[in-house]
Amino acid sequence: MINVTKTYLGDIDKFKGYVEGIYARGWLTNHGPLVCELEQRLKEYLGVKHVILTNNGTLALQVAYRALGLSGSAVTTPFSFVATSSSLQWEGIRPIFADIDAQTWNISPDHIESRIVSDTTAIVGTHVFGNPCAVERIEEIARRRNLKVVYDGAHAFAVRHAGQSVLNWGDISTLSFHATKLFHTIEGGAIITNDDETARRVHLLCNFGIVDVDKIEGIGINAKLNEFSAAMGLCILDDIENILQERAEIADRYTTRLGDYVDLQRPENNSQLNHSYYPIALSDEQQLLRLRSALNTNGINPRRYFYPSLDTLEYLQPQAAQTASRSLSERVLCLPIYPGLLRDDQDRVISTVIAETSGAHSPYRVPSLAQVM
Ligand SMILES: *Cc1c(COP(=O)(O)O)cnc(C)c1O
Repeated sequence: MINVTKTYLGDIDKFKGYVEGIYARGWLTNHGPLVCELEQRLKEYLGVKHVILTNNGTLALQVAYRALGLSGSAVTTPFSFVATSSSLQWEGIRPIFADIDAQTWNISPDHIESRIVSDTTAIVGTHVFGNPCAVERIEEIARRRNLKVVYDGAHAFAVRHAGQSVLNWGDISTLSFHATKLFHTIEGGAIITNDDETARRVHLLCNFGIVDVDKIEGIGINAKLNEFSAAMGLCILDDIENILQERAEIADRYTTRLGDYVDLQRPENNSQLNHSYYPIALSDEQQLLRLRSALNTNGINPRRYFYPSLDTLEYLQPQAAQTASRSLSERVLCLPIYPGLLRDDQDRVISTVIAETSGAHSPYRVPSLAQVM
């Protein structure tokens, strides 16, 4: 089966070398030397001030909300992985959904303001499939309405906007380093901030609120990354340019061959993408289901990211229906993209998509722009 993604495993001997070091030191977790080294290298690679590694991307979100003192409600996107809003709800912050832009598929700045209520303390956006949110406009709204901004950057590793890492926007950006992500540490994540005091609070929150052996400052949780995971991250970071390059080539091939048959996400202006996913939007759900079963028959396993639209989830109700998000979530399918995907297999994906979509008129079709590289 050709899956939507395949976990990238770096050089096994390099990994074993790190593991031998861990055995020699007997230091397995609690901010060990490999975690420190990975934090340092990520700061340099991403060009951000603070990187605090966490044991997954969901806890990174939860710690981010705590570190910024969020309460009440947050305006967020219904088109994301469920963790973006369930983490809010888990922290006692009511997610209020604002609809997405039908072309960029990110939370629409045109819809954010009308959703803000008296207890709203933040805007939480997701850079969906690595496409940057409208960060300048969101920053302007947040400043004017005195709100914090958190970006779920789980898809946005190595994504650049206006000449720098997109993770530099917002009060905090979070990353997920789950094994299915472009860059991973088996399980893991990170909190990115450029504010020293926020970084200090994040450090405390990730480690039970412990300041030093004799002092505990407040409530915290255990969100620490371990040394074996950091070792995996160090191995993969060595290969990151090749990973990005190979993904870009696969994405370009899809775009060239499929651009006339399906709708594509419109890249935000002035951005450099990472091709962490290759989503296509079909004309309707029937076409999507037909295509998915045709692909399955051909040994290909695409995924419906993101379905269902989060405004339909009962435990987050009642929510106003977000029509662009609902429409997109019924039509979007992510095709296989990962380093090592064989040309023959990609051709099989492409010909199946063409066979299932040719002749079909898409009422939602927008001009498919070239991928921004
Ligand atoms: C993967 C993902 C998460 C969760 O990260 P984990 O490391 O699996 O906890 C959160 N948000 C988005 C958008 C994701 O894709």
